[in-house]
Amino acid sequence: MTPLIDTHCHLDAEAFHQDLPDVLQNAQQAGVAHMLSIGITLETSEAAVMLANRYPTLISAVVGIQPNYASEAKAGDWDRVADLATHPRVVGIGETGLDKYWDFAPLDVQTDYFIRHLDLSQRIQKPFVVHCREAEAEVIAVMQKFASGRPLNGIMHSFCGSAESLRQCLELGMYISFAGMVTFRKNDALREIARNVPLDRILIETDSPYLAPHPNRGKRNEPAWVRFTSNCLAEVFGISEDEFARQSTENAQRIFGIKPASSPANPS
Ligand SMILES: [Zn+2]
Repeated sequence: MTPLIDTHCHLDAEAFHQDLPDVLQNAQQAGVAHMLSIGITLETSEAAVMLANRYPTLISAVVGIQPNYASEAKAGDWDRVADLATHPRVVGIGETGLDKYWDFAPLDVQTDYFIRHLDLSQRIQKPFVVHCREAEAEVIAVMQKFASGRPLNGIMHSFCGSAESLRQCLELGMYISFAGMVTFRKNDALREIARNVPLDRILIETDSPYLAPHPNRGKRNEPAWVRFTSNCLAEVFGISEDEFARQSTENAQRIFGIKPASSPANPS
């Protein structure tokens, strides 16, 4: 079994408090060699770094303030996130972006935080992770302005946008990450769009504990199940499951600077 990397999960979530060691063991048994635990607030970013310290071969951290939490961030939270970002176990900045589905923070506050994450990412040379919900045009506009012609070093997480948004994100140099939604039976449209991602720019994730893939839709999601998304995309591209796994793992290692596992958890 070719090792996989779950590039986006929330392992500090309440849903994992009871059984995280089992969840990590399931992941290893499913051939998931590495997981990125993502922060959404200062506190969850700190928790992600603690997990990355506790399980250095299995987990790395991504730190940031998610757009829906931008309004409730306290004075000083951002500076502490920026400090945390330089920690050696932190491989990315985020999740950041814009969200017009929920109304938890005014768009100008979200945009201000988005730009702070982009600046920080560029300053410390670690990629940024974008959350985009019903705000494709706005997210792309912010990124285009920031890029001003240079390629960006970022990831569209849980991509579910249009073919045109995909084209613009690729043009900006972004990597594209798919979560369980691409496996849902009725989501032919997203699979059709996914086919247009170059194989050297595609990533996979669970976004666990949310968004469990088919056939486990509706259950608590966990990193082991990134295998379903990987296999689904292999079929979309018409290549073998191993070939797709190898490619997406290489991509994750490249953009996040993760070293290949010396011995896969479950060699085939
Ligand atoms: Zn997330």
